[in-house]
Amino acid sequence: MSNIIIDSAFDSGNIDVMTVNEARAMLRLKNDKDSEFKQWFHFRVANCGGRELVLKIVGLNDTAYPAGWPDYNACVSEDRDFWGRAPSTFDKDEEGGTLTIRFAPAGDLAWFAYFAPFSMERHHDLVSISASAEGVEHRKLGETLDGRSLDCLTMGTGDVQTWLYARQHPGESMAEWWMEGALQVLCDPSDTLGRALREKCRFHIVPNCNPDGSARGHLRTNAKGVNLNREWAEPSAERSPEVLAIRNAMDESGVHFAMDVHGDEAIDAVFLAGFEGIPSWSDEQGERFYRYQRILERRCPDFQTAKGYPKSGPGKANLAISTNQVAERYAATAMTLEMPFKDNADHPDEVQGWSPERSRMLARDCLGALLEFLESED
Ligand SMILES: [Zn+2]
Repeated sequence: MSNIIIDSAFDSGNIDVMTVNEARAMLRLKNDKDSEFKQWFHFRVANCGGRELVLKIVGLNDTAYPAGWPDYNACVSEDRDFWGRAPSTFDKDEEGGTLTIRFAPAGDLAWFAYFAPFSMERHHDLVSISASAEGVEHRKLGETLDGRSLDCLTMGTGDVQTWLYARQHPGESMAEWWMEGALQVLCDPSDTLGRALREKCRFHIVPNCNPDGSARGHLRTNAKGVNLNREWAEPSAERSPEVLAIRNAMDESGVHFAMDVHGDEAIDAVFLAGFEGIPSWSDEQGERFYRYQRILERRCPDFQTAKGYPKSGPGKANLAISTNQVAERYAATAMTLEMPFKDNADHPDEVQGWSPERSRMLARDCLGALLEFLESED
């Protein structure tokens, strides 16, 4: 039998092929450029010929989040539209940590990724379709190190300055699927939730804060290997022009409510992180975040508060992280939304795990909770 053919020379592609033997392959991950981080993968397998593929990704014990591999099933698609999961097992003692993926595609081609990719072409479609809706303005906030545009969509006539931004960590593609759901609500004139929110808020939406890392197939960094969510205290044109451009635009508008959208490799749940430990912390500002969190938990079965990150102690917040900086700098109700790479263990979906579809629906619930939060404040 002939060998399968594996390549990754496309948008967000990432894999190193070590050996191929018929339908079996040994693979490893490439680091983000100039960085220690690795975890994202995205590759195509051709010449499958109806065989069961056995794909081993080795050397995973020194990835950014080794805890991301146990109970993780790789994402797979045959048509690049529907993304399901291929049964996968992790053995930390095999070849420095090995994820073994098994899948028998019906046809000759199969695509594998750490999570359903959200391509730069889809990003341009999303931005352009949204910008063509009535009352939506497009702004280029700045330019990345690779010369890509940092796109921002602005809409709404209200006074509540609301910033939604995603994919500082480019491998967290669920964050831009969330954005697709949010923009569908906010740009559709027949959507009353979107209309009500646009009367109350001025929205500033950055669907992809790190297009260079996205195109390059990075997990966590930009074209210079910089983790943008550690740059918010002192962003610079040399290292982090993406953060500098967004923060400057925030300085201009002010910020009342901010949500920074992410994915978490290890925790099998949807959760929020707040800004405990900022120097200007007050219980009143903190309570605004907790109240939003309670509203979202009541409205959305996929959201929970039992699992999440530990809170920083008084004065211990890292102001280089966006949510802390935005809460401190603007006295905003700021938060980080985390979705799982694995699945929501409370409501598992064996076919898809956590998925683009669920990310989009979560966005609608987050916006519904925002409207309730603003109305119950009145
Ligand atoms: Zn992240």
